[in-house]
Amino acid sequence: MADANAECNIKVLCRFRPLNKSEIIRGDKFIPVFQGEDTVILGGKSYVFDQVFPTNTTQIQVYNTCAKQIVKDVLGGYNGTIFAYGQTSSGKTHTMEGNLHDPQGMGIIPRIAEDIFEHIFAMDENLEFHIKVSYFEIYMDKIRDLLDVTKTNLSVHEDKHRVPYVKGCTERFVTSPEEVMDVIDEGKASRHVAVTNMNEHSSRSHSIFLINIKQENVETEQKLCGKLYLVDLAGSEKVSKTGAEGAVLDEAKNINRSLSALGNVISALAEGTKSHVPYRDSKMTRILQDSLGGNCRTTMFICCSPSSYNDVETKSTLMFGQRAK
Ligand code: ADP
Ligand code: MG
Repeated sequence: MADANAECNIKVLCRFRPLNKSEIIRGDKFIPVFQGEDTVILGGKSYVFDQVFPTNTTQIQVYNTCAKQIVKDVLGGYNGTIFAYGQTSSGKTHTMEGNLHDPQGMGIIPRIAEDIFEHIFAMDENLEFHIKVSYFEIYMDKIRDLLDVTKTNLSVHEDKHRVPYVKGCTERFVTSPEEVMDVIDEGKASRHVAVTNMNEHSSRSHSIFLINIKQENVETEQKLCGKLYLVDLAGSEKVSKTGAEGAVLDEAKNINRSLSALGNVISALAEGTKSHVPYRDSKMTRILQDSLGGNCRTTMFICCSPSSYNDVETKSTLMFGQRAK
């Protein structure tokens, strides 16, 4: 079914946010130097990606350059995953979600929702579409359904084709972009309810939005399925070795482990030595198994702060992105 196109299906894109107010007040320096479309220089070292987005890049530019094609591919029966990786406050949620209800400020997920339905309305009348979405988070290796707060520890199973899925996770059928937005709002609200400090919590859990598209040609009965995972990862910052203890240290170790597992899978896929890809090392990589690598469309956003104050974390973020190249 899949075309053996020579193009690499893992894309790594790097986005720098602007300096924020408190960084400016503190007198932080703006440290990245952008070179061409694909290179950023930090501390004298060059980092090359498929594309580098400097701080003034708009949400629409980001979407058009990298997510638009994935929507077409998923409607064509491919699977895909888009991640945002970076330290807390580097722009992950801004990139993935942005301001859901503002046409300028919308991030990738709401634009994808609009795009999918636009494509569908323009397609062959004989095609019947069934689109469903799920929304869950992984915190301390536990999967929590954001559309049903009573489901706090779901497990990963495999269907009869050995495709992994989150068993019992709520699936909502959606028929318009507005309905997709409602589901996201609902999921975010249940995230708020369960925790006292939303920002802290969201920085320590991975949130995963799944869009599943099934289409059937009512004349020929031909079927096509594609799914797209949209992942806002937990903050990648290291906790200071001296300060952290107890629960905070456990959380940090857990996040570190799951992000390394993801990095190992992506770099094994990027190397193309497909003998062993360690999908089974974490819940997240197990879930994403059939939507990463191979013919799947994988895009990783490497989100960075431009501030001199964060230079160590930014270097480590850039290095993570380089492993996938
Ligand atoms: P993260 O999800 O990585 O913790 P956020 O996406 O919440 O970070 O971003 C932190 C803050 O910076 C937010 O107030 C967000 O609106 C702002 N921000 C992030 N990226 C950009 C950008 N490219 N342009 C303007 N503001 C941004
Ligand atoms: Mg966030």
